[in-house]
Formats: sequence, C-alpha cells, structure tokens
Amino acid sequence: MNMDLPLCKLCLKNEANQTGAHILTHSLISKCVNEATKKGRDSELMFSFGQDGATDLFVGRKVSLKKIKDVKGRDLTDEELGSNENAIVVDNYFCRSCEKLFGNVEAPFSASILKNIRDKQECNIVDNITLRLFFIIQAWRASVCSFDGFKLSTTFEEFLKGIVFEGCNQINDEFEKGLTEKILSIPIILNHLETKSGKESKNLVCIPRREEPYLLFLCDFVLQLYEPNSEKKLLDYYNLNENQSLDIINENEEIFKITLLNEVDSSNLITSILNSQFAPNALSGYLEKLSDGFKLQHIPPTIAETQRFLMLLVFTKDIPISERYSNGRIDKIISQLINER
Ligand SMILES: [Zn+2]
Repeated sequence: MNMDLPLCKLCLKNEANQTGAHILTHSLISKCVNEATKKGRDSELMFSFGQDGATDLFVGRKVSLKKIKDVKGRDLTDEELGSNENAIVVDNYFCRSCEKLFGNVEAPFSASILKNIRDKQECNIVDNITLRLFFIIQAWRASVCSFDGFKLSTTFEEFLKGIVFEGCNQINDEFEKGLTEKILSIPIILNHLETKSGKESKNLVCIPRREEPYLLFLCDFVLQLYEPNSEKKLLDYYNLNENQSLDIINENEEIFKITLLNEVDSSNLITSILNSQFAPNALSGYLEKLSDGFKLQHIPPTIAETQRFLMLLVFTKDIPISERYSNGRIDKIISQLINER
C-alpha cells in the first residue's frame, strides 16, 4: 500500500487511487459544457462565480481554440490552461472501487431517467430513489471536493456519505431496513430548465448559494437541497420559485415531481444571474482587489488610478462577460497600472 495516498472519502478504507474522477457526472453537465461536436472527458467549459463577483472560466484540454475565442474573446494563456484544466476533475479523492460504485447509480439514471426528462419533458419520476441518489451524489461529491468553494454542513455531509455508500452498494439488490426512509427524508426541489436545442451551453454549472437551502446549478437542472427536519421556506432567488408553493418540495413522496421552468423563464433566470455579476455591490470586491494588488507598492492607488482601473474594467470594448470580470483580467489591469507609475 502506498502510504502517501490519502484514504478514499467514501469508504474511508482503501487508498484514494482513482485519478481523473469527475466531481459532477459527465452525462449531466456535458450538454452544457461540451461542444456539440466533441465527445469525451476533456472538452469542458464552465464558469465559476466567486463570492467577490469575479468570474473564472474552467476549460478542458481539448476545447477548440475557436470555442475559447467565442467565449473569452481571446485565446487562453498557458498559465490559465494549467490552472483551470483540472477544476472539475479530481485525483486521489476516491478509490477505484468507489468510483465504480458511483456508476451503479449514474449509469441507470443517465440511460433512462435523464433521457426521459430531457427528451420527453418527463416530470413525474416513479424511480425516485435512483433520481434522489443521483443528485445526492452530485451534492456530496461537490462538497467533499470543495467544488466552487462549496461545503455542506459537516453533519449533513456525513449523513449523505452514508446514503451514497449504502445506496450505491445496495441499489441492485434489496435495500436494508431504514435506508429508503433516510433517502426519502431529504427535502429536495428539482427544477428542469427547458432549453432550446443548441442553447445548452448558455446554462450554468455553479453553486451560487452555500448555505441551506443549498443551491446547485447543474446545466439544465437546478437542485435546491434542504437538510432533513429543517424549517422549509422557498428561496427568494431571482424568479426561480416565483408563484410556487411549498408543494414543489419532494419529501417522503411516492412519485418525485420535477418543477419545470419554461424556456422564457429559464432564459430570464440565467440572464438575471449573469447580469447580477455587473451589480454595483460587486465593485467593492474589485476595489478590494485593487488595493490588495498595490500592497507591495509604497503608495496605495490614487484616486486617478482607481478611476482608471474602473474605466478599464467596465468600459473597455468587446470583452465578453465571462472574461471582463475574471480574476486574470483584474490582475492584468492592476499590473498595467503599477507599470504605468
Ligand atoms: Zn473507496
């Protein structure tokens, strides 16, 4: 046994010898982050929104240069490729046999349930246990891998780990007593965003809310996750739960109900979220970065320099949203200002 490897986060027994493990199941997010013409694990493209309002883009190794140019307005630097390419793939978190265990749920979900939701707008899911396990796996793995800075509460993460381990192990046989009840006890709202064919890449992969109810944007799905026995209120988040009642929460249900957002509402929701990245309150985050950037200088940024920083940041023409407020671009403007002194 190689003692240098940590223990697997799921079984806590074997060494975590799996490399290239996906935090989010490929079939779930590939429509959103893959190019339509490309298949394979290395063609991913996604955004992350930092708490400070900055955006970062995670890009897979084989995304074509043209696609990157379309989104970013320029090619990636070698440095960006190096730091971004592995953001959604992790090494040494799980063991090889647990990676296979995930497949016990991921494979049947992707082959039938996911397909029926996407192709036939299926909203009433009879096999609620497989669907629940699938989305619980996404949230749990995102948490143990700190994807996008995400972390569930310790007790909830631990509770979900037990469900994921037992559920994946027993899904092909009979569940032992109590497991079904545990799985059904978690209150979940699942939205499906109706998305026009060809517009899938407009959807988001990000976790904008890191406290209960947890909120995960997973391409054309939005997962709203509550802890069991918690006080349930519908989240006021743009128009996501507009005109809805607590009935949309699934808990101890017989048939799992997916809440559909039509194409117009889905598109408005995504646009509102993207626009919020421009919100004035994000400016204080950018200004903080500016003063941090000047820390090594003897004189902090002057008013004129601050004004020039904001002008360059906000009003430079022809820079796409994803690139405009990225950490890389902010750093570059700061270096430019320092060099101009
Ligand atoms: Zn394991």
